Amino acid sequence: MERNKRKQDGSTGHDAKGKVKSVYMIDTQPSRTLGIHCADPRFQSAFRRFISQELGIDNYTPLVIGGGVRALGDQNAPPENVETLWGQIKFFITEANIELVILINHEDCKWYEYVHSDQSEAELANIGRQDLQAADHRVRMEFANVQVRSFWAALENDTISFSEVTDG
Ligand SMILES: [Zn+2]
Repeated sequence: MERNKRKQDGSTGHDAKGKVKSVYMIDTQPSRTLGIHCADPRFQSAFRRFISQELGIDNYTPLVIGGGVRALGDQNAPPENVETLWGQIKFFITEANIELVILINHEDCKWYEYVHSDQSEAELANIGRQDLQAADHRVRMEFANVQVRSFWAALENDTISFSEVTDG
């Protein structure tokens, strides 16, 4: 029956072999924004809410990786890390007609702690901010027609606050 072809969002049933099959709807809203940020689970909800509620972007393409834009800011980052991140950024900007790139780096980043294990907390925040500005610059230089906005997410007790550090 025609009706059965289109299952309800989030419905769970069984396939022909009796295995559980869950069905969800795709998101049809187009995205013209690429958002690049860390994978830290403490920050995901705040990242999403900041981008949707504060910046007014309903649907963005998330590029989520530990340390966010770190690989683009650090001269000593392994080349394969730089290539992976930069390759993804280039792919989405050119293939998905991205018009706005949002870069977010954050305080108390465990990836930064892991990579720069000899640095103090204050120094890690400095490095994170510098990497953010370097990444902002690099995307801006490479893609003149794309708008770039960069934000530093500070952690204070249980709250996360965003401040724009766009370099342009
Ligand atoms: Zn992080």
